Amino acid sequence: MASIPYKIFLSENEIPKQWLNLRAAMKNKPAPMLDPETKQPVTFEQLQRVFCDELARQELNETDLYIDIPEGIIDFYKMFRPSPTIRAYNLERELGTPAHIYYKYEGANTSGSHKLNSAVAQVYYAKEQGITSLTTETGAGQWGTALAMASAFYGVDLTVYMVKGSAMQKPHRKEVIRTFGAEVIPSPSMTTEVGRRINEKFPNTTGSLGCAISEAVEKATTTENCRYVLGSVMNHVLLHQSIIGLEAKAALQKYGVYPDIVIGCAGGGSNLGGLIAPFAVDKINGTHNPEFLAVEPSSCPSLTRGSFVYDYGDTGHMTPLIKMYTLGSEYIPASSHAGGLRYHGMNSVVSQLYDDGLMKATSYKQTEVFDAATTFAKVEGILPAPESSHAIRAAMDEALRCKETGEEKVILFGLTGTGYFDMPAYEQVNNGTMTDYVPTDDEIKKSIESLPKF
Ligand SMILES: *Cc1c(COP(=O)(O)O)cnc(C)c1O
Repeated sequence: MASIPYKIFLSENEIPKQWLNLRAAMKNKPAPMLDPETKQPVTFEQLQRVFCDELARQELNETDLYIDIPEGIIDFYKMFRPSPTIRAYNLERELGTPAHIYYKYEGANTSGSHKLNSAVAQVYYAKEQGITSLTTETGAGQWGTALAMASAFYGVDLTVYMVKGSAMQKPHRKEVIRTFGAEVIPSPSMTTEVGRRINEKFPNTTGSLGCAISEAVEKATTTENCRYVLGSVMNHVLLHQSIIGLEAKAALQKYGVYPDIVIGCAGGGSNLGGLIAPFAVDKINGTHNPEFLAVEPSSCPSLTRGSFVYDYGDTGHMTPLIKMYTLGSEYIPASSHAGGLRYHGMNSVVSQLYDDGLMKATSYKQTEVFDAATTFAKVEGILPAPESSHAIRAAMDEALRCKETGEEKVILFGLTGTGYFDMPAYEQVNNGTMTDYVPTDDEIKKSIESLPKF
């Protein structure tokens, strides 16, 4: 049919040599992270106690637009990057839309998601600094898997505190992590003080992300030469994920198009922030005017229904304060199949862009999302992750609007991962037993009101 290709792979030599630091281009910068005790901006020295030095520097860097990617990281990237940018001809035909739909596919590596882009960088810098072990938490399991792969490659020990409920729900995900040599501890565990305390108080709990973070931080701060690493929310993670947007922009140039709208699912905001980065710089500089759309689950709507205030990054209140759209750090989102989007807050860059009107946001119920996921799987031949399917749903709706108006919009969305470990979710879809949960205004209001005021 088309003379335009279905898929554009850049060559190995076209892997970007620098990440793009979107914050440096922003005229209205995100507010700084604050120390909850002093209410002063967090310093490099404070961050250095928890994170590797280079990551602490990147976290605070709002001046360098480009940051070099070390050779040692590019060597790993070459195993799975550049990732393909695909024209969804079959989906366009299925919808009967005049829009042109493209997606950037980040699921074609063993970890199955974009999280590997930052995992590699974080473990590389830890190794360079002589750190011998790392700890982290994982909810849905994608981050734990990506980090286990990177830790195996660079030879750093890794302990993953996996939310007990997820570990039971996704036993095979746990085995992939263990196969790459990491230790998996279902959380809450008896291996940390905070874990023992929680187990005593709630003997049958299946755990939560907030609790797993507390255990991982305790282990890191009580183990010599050990650091804690995070897979989303932080600015340095957003920076590493800019490789998604840089590659997508280069591939679209080869297709000869520029996106009218860029759509991404938003949990902590890292894939979305990375995907839009080069296009947002164009928008800020006034050379192009693309729209950006963040897509969240209705069960955890931090942008669409949260408040833009200073809040903690974790439930246990061990992190600095971040100015962000949040549902409140003590808000426990209802269990849903998009575990990677079940976070109470949003990265500060994404939050600021949204507050400044440079980005829009929308939310969908999981049944609507899985409808889109199954349509997409049938016509495009990829079984998408529940998280990614939020972006699919929004892209399809945008394409259907174009069908009404006759607009030939160029739509780009991020397909962040595959759903092969999400079979319990697809089983519910197939059996017709999937349900939705949408929090009431009252629930959200109560959670925000219970926040300490800063
Ligand atoms: C973690 C995850 C997300 C959400 O994280 P962001 O930081 O918002 O990008 C989305 N999709 C997949 C497949 C994930 O694993």
